[in-house]
Amino acid sequence: MPKKDSTAAVAEKYSVRCRYCGQKNSVREEYKNNEAVCGRCRLPLSNEPHKKFADLSKHDYIHPADSKALAALRAIPGIDTALKKLLTVTGESAIRVTFMASAIKVTPKQCPDLYAKLQIACTTLGVDMPELYVQQNPVVNAFTGGVEKPIIVLHSALIERLNDEETLAVIAHEVGHIHAEHVLYLTAARLIEALTNASLAQLVPGGDIIKFLVSAGISSALLAWARRAELSCDRAALLVTQDPHVIGRTMMKLCGGTFASKIDYDLFLEQAREFQKNYDEKKLDKFWADLLNAGLSHPFPVWRVSEILKWVEDGEYEEIMKK
Ligand SMILES: [Zn+2]
Ligand SMILES: [Zn+2]
Repeated sequence: MPKKDSTAAVAEKYSVRCRYCGQKNSVREEYKNNEAVCGRCRLPLSNEPHKKFADLSKHDYIHPADSKALAALRAIPGIDTALKKLLTVTGESAIRVTFMASAIKVTPKQCPDLYAKLQIACTTLGVDMPELYVQQNPVVNAFTGGVEKPIIVLHSALIERLNDEETLAVIAHEVGHIHAEHVLYLTAARLIEALTNASLAQLVPGGDIIKFLVSAGISSALLAWARRAELSCDRAALLVTQDPHVIGRTMMKLCGGTFASKIDYDLFLEQAREFQKNYDEKKLDKFWADLLNAGLSHPFPVWRVSEILKWVEDGEYEEIMKK
């Protein structure tokens, strides 16, 4: 009988509230324990709680290498005036106009699952929603820039390669830059990189200021800090994903690309631990110097995963989760 059939169908449905975004989902009985994803944020459904921090301070998770490098940077005379001058070269509105004209703006209707992930990262860490863009770019990367109002840009290659949880980790890392108040210095660092790498220093109005920043040692101190700042934001990403292995797998993909699906994750973790063992305290300075010389914008992914594992194993992560 039709009526009985429809009642039976309703009984087989199971209601699960998404732990990340709060959306109420109706899932079929057979998917109730696994494999079902939230219809809004696309993240896996489960009955585990997801912590949202009421009053998270950046000092709760900032990596010591970040604070040390930042203190060294701030000690350089005239740095803030010089950087403000540099940032007037492009200016915030120029950054915004560039992405508005060349990238896809994420809204509640445009790429709603990415919008939901941004909202999850912001509500978890306690950050006002920034603008989010997706830009066609084959380099697996993302960045946050701005002066007063930060914007986040995700490269298309990143979204194409990462799954939903890993994409949340990357968005959360970027929101971490906002929460940790990195954005002004980070924007200056990226601008210096762009101007110096492209040998544009003579051609743009900022040429003289770039020359000054390089000669005053500001440029190298700023880039040295920016790489260390990444370690703090990986921690912020963990505070949002609340699973260190999501960070680990994201780093694995940054190392091995889509080929990562054929890579043994446990062996990758072993590689990270071995790496950490080889770089004891004495060699650290040399390592950072090498990194700087290599012209990388981010520390090596294996190093980043070993740093995250260390933070978890030292109990610091759990300490913050109890707050
Ligand atoms: Zn959801
Ligand atoms: Zn970053």
